[in-house]
Amino acid sequence: MANSKKVVKIAGLAIGGNNPVRVESMLKTSFDEPFSSILKEIRTLEKADCELLRIAVPNKEAILTINKIKKHTNIPLMADIHFSEEIALKILDEGIDSIRINPANMEISQIKKIARVAKSKKVPMRIGVNAASFKNPFGKDKKAVIKLVDVLCKTVREIEKEKFYDIIVGVKSSDVPTTIMTNQLLAKKLPYPIHIGITEAGLAPEAIIKSSIGIGALLAQGIGDTLRVSLTDTSAKEVQVGYEILKALNLRKKGVEIISCPTCGRCRINIKKIAEEIKKRTLKFKEPITIAVMGCEVNGPGEAKEADIGIAGGLGCGVLFKKGKILKKVKEKDIVKVLMREIEKEIKEIVI
Ligand code: SF4
Repeated sequence: MANSKKVVKIAGLAIGGNNPVRVESMLKTSFDEPFSSILKEIRTLEKADCELLRIAVPNKEAILTINKIKKHTNIPLMADIHFSEEIALKILDEGIDSIRINPANMEISQIKKIARVAKSKKVPMRIGVNAASFKNPFGKDKKAVIKLVDVLCKTVREIEKEKFYDIIVGVKSSDVPTTIMTNQLLAKKLPYPIHIGITEAGLAPEAIIKSSIGIGALLAQGIGDTLRVSLTDTSAKEVQVGYEILKALNLRKKGVEIISCPTCGRCRINIKKIAEEIKKRTLKFKEPITIAVMGCEVNGPGEAKEADIGIAGGLGCGVLFKKGKILKKVKEKDIVKVLMREIEKEIKEIVI
């Protein structure tokens, strides 16, 4: 569970307090492309269960497209505004669900003006500091951490003077230790929900490792109420990895979790092939269910018993378990078919 003291709602989506950690992504399709391409990305994000979608607003024309997007999706939207007070005020006027402001590229007087309008329209604001946005970046040492949090806290204090408290905060860096330290400090200083992520994390698999370590370390300490995994990849992939991080920490349950052994000299069946096939065939399911695919009798029965459904390999065969009980012995060639039959039966019984 998330641990901020305050709860903020964006178009009905509750963030912070005891609410689940929310998974966010950013729209990647350029506004220069046909609207059908934008819609295609939105549909993949809906399918991936993206809970909050941030959209860059580079110019006033983009607002028209965002208005159109709003009519085509129920995902709460967050306008990502840099430099322009005018664009921020205009999009608030058009009825955006939430807005993100970066204190590195806006004057405090402008941010306060935006906050006054956001307050009147009951629109939450995210104050998101990105270490790379400053003209003279602070670096990556402890002093930098204090400075980054300081910038954010000063901005928040000014907004609070406007009696506006629908605030989400965030400090991001592409450096994992800096991100962890800034957010630890931030969690001590402010009661607002915290958005976490490793910015500009890069390509997979390195970016996934960086994000898992940075985001995971914070979540394990109860820090973080929304997250974005920043990948040089599709937005749906970002959402997928976000949920995987939450699943690994038992913070969210979603879809099939496959526990498969790394195999060793004891293994007498093709675990990789079976696990990959089960993964491929179960990607469509959203129901939380654990499947163990194990190579032999050393750890196999133990994991298979703990899982909802499992198989523990033998010589050219596997023993099928369900809810801790042995069901039967299955020939290797039939393992996938039998597992899938049991998975589908189990899923029918789950009410999410
Ligand atoms: S479960 Fe068996 S086959 Fe798999 S890694 Fe462990 S000992 Fe090896």
